[in-house]
Amino acid sequence: MIVTIDGPAGAGKTTVSRLLADRLGYTYVDTGALYRGIAYMARQKGIAPEDDEALAALCADLNLAFVADGAGHRLIANGIDVTDHIRTPEISMLASAVSARPIVRDFLLDIQRAMGRRKAAVFEGRDMGTVVFPEADVKFFLDASAQTRAQRRYKEIAHRTAQSLADVQRDMARRDANDQSRAVAPLKPAPDAICIDSSALTIEAVVTQMLDHIENA
Ligand code: C5P
Repeated sequence: MIVTIDGPAGAGKTTVSRLLADRLGYTYVDTGALYRGIAYMARQKGIAPEDDEALAALCADLNLAFVADGAGHRLIANGIDVTDHIRTPEISMLASAVSARPIVRDFLLDIQRAMGRRKAAVFEGRDMGTVVFPEADVKFFLDASAQTRAQRRYKEIAHRTAQSLADVQRDMARRDANDQSRAVAPLKPAPDAICIDSSALTIEAVVTQMLDHIENA
């Protein structure tokens, strides 16, 4: 059983996906973390996000894995725990840039599908329902107004960044534009996705709606 949750940054995908997976007893897979892991490793090696040749070499030599850690997961890249380094505004923008490169998407496609074969799971990302798991059992597209999304993200990172709300809103708009306009696997709802706007909904209300859809699927 595979449930996919796609949508733009700040729509609440991570919180909702975690809770949903927990209620269903499924694994939760944050595919954005994989793109962030590649962005972080590229930055460590001084690789520009447009350098396909260097990105290919990086991927050929890269082992990415999630390791369970209490209620969450740690991302391990070539044996190193990179979890605490991948959530900065800089890595967010770099992840968006490397994620537009077909070489990176191809590399992660196989990894994500292999994870999907292992256990019932909730996959969160941008192209889960459209490209990675077109045959998923239930697909959701979670959205919210640009203002709501920026405010949520700002609240989440305010304690660990110097960014203002306006900075967060600007970065988010840029990232959305990149993710929606790229040639390969752009961010968009799958034709058979259930679209939910979370702007005026609590997390619990979103999860309840999703559970209802899954039960009736
Ligand atoms: O979800 P998160 O904000 O952590 O994702 C970081 C970036 O990774 C996104 O802005 C997007 O460019 C990319 N991404 C993607 N496809 C996915 C998940 C994330 O292109 N399935």
